[in-house]
Amino acid sequence: PQPAAPFVPGPGESVVVYLEPDAGPAGVGVKLRVDDPRRPAILVTDQGLTRGDGVFETMTAVAAEGAGPGSGSPLRVRKEDSHLARLATSAQALEIPLPPAADWQRAAAAGLEAFAAGNPGVDAVVKLVASRGPEGAPGGGHHVRAEAGVERLTGTYWVLVSPVSPGLVAARERGLKVLLLDRGVDSGVAERAPWLLMGTKSLSYAVNMAALRYAASQGADDVIFTSSDGQVLEGPTSTVLMARRIPQQDGSTGIELVTPLRSSGILPGTSQGTIFAAAQAAGWQLGYGPLEPSDLVDADGVWLVSSVRLVAPVTHLDGEEIPQDAELTELLNNFLAEDREPGEHGP
Ligand code: PLP
Repeated sequence: PQPAAPFVPGPGESVVVYLEPDAGPAGVGVKLRVDDPRRPAILVTDQGLTRGDGVFETMTAVAAEGAGPGSGSPLRVRKEDSHLARLATSAQALEIPLPPAADWQRAAAAGLEAFAAGNPGVDAVVKLVASRGPEGAPGGGHHVRAEAGVERLTGTYWVLVSPVSPGLVAARERGLKVLLLDRGVDSGVAERAPWLLMGTKSLSYAVNMAALRYAASQGADDVIFTSSDGQVLEGPTSTVLMARRIPQQDGSTGIELVTPLRSSGILPGTSQGTIFAAAQAAGWQLGYGPLEPSDLVDADGVWLVSSVRLVAPVTHLDGEEIPQDAELTELLNNFLAEDREPGEHGP
């Protein structure tokens, strides 16, 4: 049975919005359904569950400027266009049909409105998920089954809006002890073996989570993966950045900001992209790997960045303390807060 009134989560609770195919007069549309995420909804045959066969995005939403009664949701998603573009790229790599970006935006807005009603003043994590849908079903991903002509949207689609976990904020402020872990593939694998879906935000994150548990068992907070040929890649849920202060001929000091090569099979980070755009506007030099672990040790600062965690300084690599620079951390956080449209992700 459907709830009579629209669901409003209580304090600290989450809300889900399902995007369901809807055969209207103009063809296939998408109808939104706001619900309590504790209500079971996904079929046990859904390949997102049985095979990790799907894609996702994790975005954050913060207080919107000028929000007030009647101004719509008081929360605004950061870098929404970049996340939607990456979701589309991931879905294309997996050949999963996706509702249009405008429907995801509507779903996120509906979820944020419900979330904010129960959680005033709380920032939110907005997770978008698209799975391949139930096994053996030619069409229709959800409870709504396909009708003739509706086979286009065959996946299962939802948006989950939750409060930001306080643990992440604490880690960001404390800094991170990081373990370098071998990903077991070389830096040329993305080009050579596209079926491995390197650099795609697929639901198959079991390996990434296992790496984080391994790090925890060794007393570390996070991980930087390396390739079998010794390149720095990325964190299990973050992009690696490093900075060097470079003395200039006129006596001043410039700053170079470097991230690993995208072509090494890493996810192009939206946080990295927006930070680089702001850094470039501020006159910093930008660089793209290849980077080796020794480059990180020799840098003036190393950070893990992602949409929810923001900019977290790395304090230790494999148990050894590395240089930290609080001023650079603050500048990077300010760059991220500028919320610029990300520029190029580099080669
Ligand atoms: N790399 C991986 C593997 C990730 O899972 C993520 C985000 O979760 C990132 C990088 C950072 O991406 P973004 O800055 O877009 O959040």
